[in-house]
This record gives sequence, structure tokens and C-alpha cells, in this order.
Amino acid sequence: MDATFTADDLAFRDEVRAFLKEKLPDHIRRQTEISPSYVSKEDTREWHQIIHRQGWIAPNWPKEHGGTGWTATQRHIWEEEYQAANAPRLSPFGLVMVGPVIYTFGSDAQKQEHLPKILSGERFWCQGYSEPGSGSDLASLKTRAIRDGNEYVVNGSKIWTSHAQHADWIFCLVRTDTTVKKQEGISFLLIDIKSPGLEVRPIISIDGGHYLNEVFFTDVRVPIGNLVGEENKGWTYAKFLLGNERSGIAGVGKSKQKIDKIIDAARQERGNGGATLWDDADFRGRVMAISARLSALEYTNLRMLAKEEAGGKVGPEASILKIDGTEIEQGLNELLVEALGNYAAPYDLDSLRLDANLDLVGPDYGRGAMTEHLLRRAASIYGGTNEVQRDIIAKHVLRL
Ligand SMILES: Cc1cc2nc3c(=O)[nH]c(=O)nc-3n(C[C@H](O)[C@H](O)[C@H](O)COP(=O)(O)OP(=O)(O)OC[C@H]3O[C@@H](n4cnc5c(N)ncnc54)[C@H](O)[C@@H]3O)c2cc1C
Repeated sequence: MDATFTADDLAFRDEVRAFLKEKLPDHIRRQTEISPSYVSKEDTREWHQIIHRQGWIAPNWPKEHGGTGWTATQRHIWEEEYQAANAPRLSPFGLVMVGPVIYTFGSDAQKQEHLPKILSGERFWCQGYSEPGSGSDLASLKTRAIRDGNEYVVNGSKIWTSHAQHADWIFCLVRTDTTVKKQEGISFLLIDIKSPGLEVRPIISIDGGHYLNEVFFTDVRVPIGNLVGEENKGWTYAKFLLGNERSGIAGVGKSKQKIDKIIDAARQERGNGGATLWDDADFRGRVMAISARLSALEYTNLRMLAKEEAGGKVGPEASILKIDGTEIEQGLNELLVEALGNYAAPYDLDSLRLDANLDLVGPDYGRGAMTEHLLRRAASIYGGTNEVQRDIIAKHVLRL
């Protein structure tokens, strides 16, 4: 494996750094720093459009559909620098998830209708996969679509639908045949979220925020032109989509930055005897242990990158990135909350907004630490639970 960057890669890194430094609006960077979950839809769109104008909005798409044509290493550099610059995460549902499904399996009409609007940030999407009772066992989903002339009539419900309240469209897995093996009776539909009979209801998460929703379908009529690919072949497209979901999942750039923040915080917080938390060998040891795990993850990530650059394909071993990336993220969030001590206890959601006109109870670096800690407990659940990822490694990597 060659984990060093070439001169061209380093020049590219400088170009990316300069772009992020110059073009990322300060208010968006600051809001991301305080609480990435509280970056508004408007700010996300503003930033999306800045990147789009630069021509860098779809690093994972082929060039002919508006992608950048970057190498795997360039994509990696972009991800890492992006996270390190405190740039907000763009909505992945269009760019990372449904966009590639549409350009790979969709009709010409679907490509023309949706791809330009995904690239420009004009149309936001959400993901209607999970249902009550069908999460890890996704293929057991029950939302039904029955053909009626030139339309499907959809009935059922989806759950944990992130950002459905901001979305214009939802891509859904629906059951179109109940008589065959469960994977063989699923279809992939594109549905306008304003369709009559479709209702979005909020789920408030443990941190008090609204990111999640339930989506109910009551006789929602969907034109057959919104079926992606073939009827009953949706499972193939669904799996293809999940395979694309892994860009940036290791989150190395973000975690490195959090380690710096924890060390900064620990150097400032003083106990009764006047010593700082950073003087505490146990605390330091725990930060270093996660830091070592992060270095191992970074090299695992680079090893996969080297494989891709050499023409290989990264398969189920990407589950390692998901497991380690999320466990490291959670461990670091816990340490930051611990470093804050009593300041972590008062919890005021309003203080998470950059424009909040409030006197903060604790230090500025503590803003948002508790929200991230609470919210990212879910990181080992969403995108496929870590237990299921371990099953994947056991079966498909270790062949146990
Ligand atoms: C914050 C958040 C955002 C989400 N956003 C979306 C979204 O936008 N769209 C969407 O469609 N879904 C979304 N999800 C749903 C997510 O994909 C599911 O929660 C996840 O797949 C787990 O499914 P489940 O909740 O039904 O849990 P279950 O599948 O019921 O799992 C319960 C427990 O059993 C374990 N388990 C299950 N099967 C196995 C197995 N075979 N081997 C070992 N252990 C197993 C799990 O690991 C877990 O600990 C989101 C979830 C969260 C928490």
C-alpha cells in the first residue's frame, strides 16, 4: 500500500483548502462549529449552491452526469478537508443516495427531471426505507403499492424519515407483490411529498430537536412514470444505494478536530486544587486511547483508498469504517461532555443557534456538546446498526 500523497494530490489539497477558506461563509462555519445539527435548510442550500457553482457538488457522480471526475484520493482529500473546515454536511439523500440510483437505473425522463435539481440544490429529498418493524430486516417492509391504470396507489407508513419536513420528494421502497419471496416483491418509487394523502408527522429526538419523522400514506396516487427501473426489482436498487452510502463515513477529519477541541477544553478547566483536567493522567490516557484508535482507522481508510486507486473495489470491509467511525465519534462526544463538567448540565436548545441573543452559562466551546452527545448515540443505529455491520464483516469479510 502507498499511503503518501503525490505532488498533484498535495496541490489539489491546497486548492481545496483555499476554496473552503475563501468561500465558506463565516456564519455557516460558526453554526456548524456550534452545532452541526442546527444548520438551517437555507444555510445548507446557500452552501450547496456555492459548491455547485465551483463544479464540485457531486464528487461521487460520473463526469457525464455532472460529477467532478476526481480520483478516489482526491475524493478522500475533499472529504477530510471539508470536515476539518467545519463545513456543514450537505443533505445526502439526493446527492449520495437517490441521484446515483436515478442515473444508473432511472428512465431518461427521470434523469432530466431530477438530476439537474439535485445538483443545483433546488430539490431536497428524504429516504423512505424503514418502517415500524422493518429496519435491519428491511426486506420485510409492508407499505403497499397497487397498480391502478397509470398510477400506483400507496398505503402504509415509514418511520425515522430524517428531514422529511424539509424535503420536496421522498424515494420509497414499496411492496408490489406479496406472493413471492420478500426481496422479490419490492419496487422503488419516487414520490412528490406534496401528494394528496401523504402526511409527515414529527418525532422529537432525545436532544429535543426535530430531525426525524413518520410519513403516512393514505391512497397516495403515484404516476407509473415514477417507478425506477422495473417493478419488483427495487431490492437491487435499494442495495446499490446502500453500497454508495459510505462516502465520508469514517469521519476522520471531524474526529481529529474534536480531539483538538477536547484537549483545549481540558487545558482550560481547573479543579479545586488548581490543576487542569489535562493534568489528570487518566483523562489524558482516555483521549490518547481514542486518538490511537482514530489513527488506526485513518490508515484502514487509506488502505481501502489505495485498493480503489489500484483498480480494486471496496466491498463489505467498508463496514469497519462505519463501526469504528461511529464508536470513535461517540467516545469523543462523551469525553467532551466530561471535560465540560457542570457546564454540560444546563441544557438550552436556543443557545445552539448562532444568532441566539443569550448569555451562555458555560464556555463557548461547550455550546452544542451535549446535543451532539445525545443525538449521535443514534450514529451506531442509522445507516445500518453496528451489530448488523459486525454480522456483515463476520460473514462476508472473515467468511465465518
Ligand atoms: C437518527 C436516525 C435517523 C434515521 N434516518 C432514517 C431515514 O432517513 N430513512 C430511513 O429509511 N431510515 C432511517 N433510520 C432508520 C434506521 O435505518 C433503522 O433505525 C436501523 O436500520 C435499525 O432498524 P430498527 O430501528 O428497526 O431496529 P431493529 O432492526 O429492530 O434492531 C433492534 C436491535 O436489534 C439488533 N439486530 C437486529 N437484527 C440483527 C441481526 N441480524 N444481528 C444482530 N443484531 C441485530 C440491532 O442491531 C438493534 O440493536 C434512522 C434511524 C435513526 C436512529
